Amino acid sequence: MNFELLVLGTGSATPVLEHNPSAYLLTIENEHFLIDCGEGTQFRLLEHKVRTYRIRHIFISHLHGDHYFGLIGLLSSWNLNQRKDDLTIYAPKELAEILTIQFKYSHTFLHFKINFVETDTTAANVILDNSLLSVETIPLIHRINCCGFLFKTKESKRKLLADKLPENFPIPYIKQLKEGFDVEDALTGKVYKNEDYTAEGAPPKSFAYCSDTAYNEAIIPQLQQVNTIFHEATFLETELKRAIQTNHSTAQQAATIALKANARQLIIGHYSSRYKTLENHLSEAKAVFENTQLAQEGLTFKL
Ligand SMILES: [Zn+2]
Ligand SMILES: [Zn+2]
Repeated sequence: MNFELLVLGTGSATPVLEHNPSAYLLTIENEHFLIDCGEGTQFRLLEHKVRTYRIRHIFISHLHGDHYFGLIGLLSSWNLNQRKDDLTIYAPKELAEILTIQFKYSHTFLHFKINFVETDTTAANVILDNSLLSVETIPLIHRINCCGFLFKTKESKRKLLADKLPENFPIPYIKQLKEGFDVEDALTGKVYKNEDYTAEGAPPKSFAYCSDTAYNEAIIPQLQQVNTIFHEATFLETELKRAIQTNHSTAQQAATIALKANARQLIIGHYSSRYKTLENHLSEAKAVFENTQLAQEGLTFKL
């Protein structure tokens, strides 16, 4: 199953030339899910030739500008380009009001429908559930209401071993085999045992996005065994005091969350503008959780 993360922006609130503000594109099969939409995100999507009509769901963690100031630009451009497909935006409820006012005073009349799903940032709730995946909110601790998002794919159907099937095997029987049933041929009475003709499907995969947040052990039970965690690492331990004051985390704290959650992989990002290089973030996190990667603009992670 195709499950990957394209990094569009890893910066934090203060603009710097080296980083774009927060934005990540999660792709599952052919569906794109945009997570946060900092200023300029539409240019990064253009740069990476993302087929944006495949973005039908946008998740906004919170209403600090570095996580959503790119949204009005992106939506307005989609409107100019005659987008027709419905869009669902998952965000704190005030975002609907903000966008409505922006559309009102720019006389923007949308050609496509936006459904707003209000996130409750105080509880873990399922906000999307379909045949491909489910998405839950992750309550985070920050200066304003903020939640992360936990994406979990569904169990795949069994994989057909096509070369083991007899020639001209009826198509309806193939469907039954993929769904895990044995098949009895109505004409001959021969039984085709499922285990002889199929193999296990791909295991479910999961990705947790945790930004912005203070160090918060309360999220660990929800994140148990998650394949990949993205966790903000705005600061290094040398600025722990600043991290506590601003409800952000250090690289060491991000790694501690990944370790305690028994995650397979950690990706860190949301770097403070004060750091000119990121080696110290990486070494500080790796000292606690070895399988740590640095989010950097343009990188794609196979999850
Ligand atoms: Zn931020
Ligand atoms: Zn913030």
